[in-house]
Amino acid sequence: MHQQLPKEIDPFRFAHNGRELEGEIELTSLSRLKPSLFNDAGTVKVKMRFDIDQIGTPYMQGQFVTELSMTCERCMGELLYPITIETLLGLVKHERLVSKLSEQYEPWIIDESEFVNPADVVEDELILALPLVPKHDFDCLPKEVWQSGDEEVGEKPEKQASPFAVLSALKSKK
Ligand SMILES: [Zn+2]
Repeated sequence: MHQQLPKEIDPFRFAHNGRELEGEIELTSLSRLKPSLFNDAGTVKVKMRFDIDQIGTPYMQGQFVTELSMTCERCMGELLYPITIETLLGLVKHERLVSKLSEQYEPWIIDESEFVNPADVVEDELILALPLVPKHDFDCLPKEVWQSGDEEVGEKPEKQASPFAVLSALKSKK
């Protein structure tokens, strides 16, 4: 059994209290990520540490670890893509405050009045980390495809001399 993350948190309060979260998210519950997956079994291991830095910026330091099953665009087979995300997000209450964040932070914009589901930020980060064109890092096409390709190349010189061969073949049929 694994620990579920809470569905609603107030990240600013978490930062104020220096809280930590640890748990797992089922991949099948990430509806925006799901269409990119070959198989949505599995989980993301999530660690979040909330705190306030020396100049008063609330932040979340996160580590998200998973292995996604994607479709290889060459062979259309399953491709296992391990992802480890280390992220440092500065909490801001409005988009216009993003420019005030120190450089080491990526912004996490949270509407003042709303609780957030921590799984949403995990899903955002995973989507950003997906490969543009998932492909196996080896020749993954079935052997026959490569072999027939080689034969075509090898046959070309013979084909140039083939009209006579074709003619004689036709003649011999009569
Ligand atoms: Zn492949």
